[in-house]
Amino acid sequence: MEITGRRFVGKVALITGAASGIGRATALRLAGEGAKVAICDVDVDGLAETARTVDEAYGDSTALAIVGSVAEPADVERIVAETVATFGAIDTLCNIAGILKFHNFAEITLEDWNRIMSVNVTGSFLMSQAALPHLLDGGGSIVLLSSTAALAGHPWAAAYSASKGAIDALTKTLAVEFGRRGVRTNAIAPGSIDTPIQNAFHFPEGADESLLYRIMPLDRSRGPEYIASAIAFAASEDGGHMNGATLRVDSGTLS
Ligand code: NAD
Repeated sequence: MEITGRRFVGKVALITGAASGIGRATALRLAGEGAKVAICDVDVDGLAETARTVDEAYGDSTALAIVGSVAEPADVERIVAETVATFGAIDTLCNIAGILKFHNFAEITLEDWNRIMSVNVTGSFLMSQAALPHLLDGGGSIVLLSSTAALAGHPWAAAYSASKGAIDALTKTLAVEFGRRGVRTNAIAPGSIDTPIQNAFHFPEGADESLLYRIMPLDRSRGPEYIASAIAFAASEDGGHMNGATLRVDSGTLS
């Protein structure tokens, strides 16, 4: 996808989950539009690869790679502090890190449930709370990653779906609490995007396979650059009248 806009010149974006998929595509998109990008992930090699790709395409020191988990409060504090120490500000926070696992509902362990919630929900909470003082400084914006799983029933994904429903509720709350103070918060709800998270899919034992159509694209899957472009819209002034929305980008899956 050709990048023509320069909506993030002079801006700093902090992007979680940037070692892969949508997070990596977002780092490339925002850097391509002029941003400095602080990128974080638990995947050391993948993160280094993203940083290398961004710097090769858009200039040395465009990317700052910070290894850490969004689910660990000490890591989150460090990620935000290193971003501000290096780039001096945070204008956009993209909470993209997420995990997915398929189960029959009866077989979800409390450990699996807690792990999915801690990355997908608590991670977005911790990152948003830590970044907000900086976002409020300059009038910034937050983008969270929801899913079609929050908008319609997706079989075998109860923990993941509940986590994404929580993201939609968090999005609306932050939008109202901080909108008048100049910080907009929106969510993107992707569906059928080709990234490694899709490898999590398997039919749970005894699953009713005829339910699969509920999570299939209307036409075909596409690459993560189609979500990165929606994130860039929501985060930029082009999305300046959008606050508290969940934007579905799923090639018509739920239409
Ligand atoms: P992905 O697996 O390619 O990327 C997820 C990234 O998050 C990985 O790099 C992973 O290492 C990182 N991560 C996991 N735990 C982390 C932690 N504790 N701290 C920091 N980073 C962590 O998947 P993706 O498709 O790019 O997913 C990105 C987001 O988009 C997720 O929130 C996912 O739920 C959401 N989403 C994706 C799709 C899709 O079709 N691909 C659909 C709906 C929603």
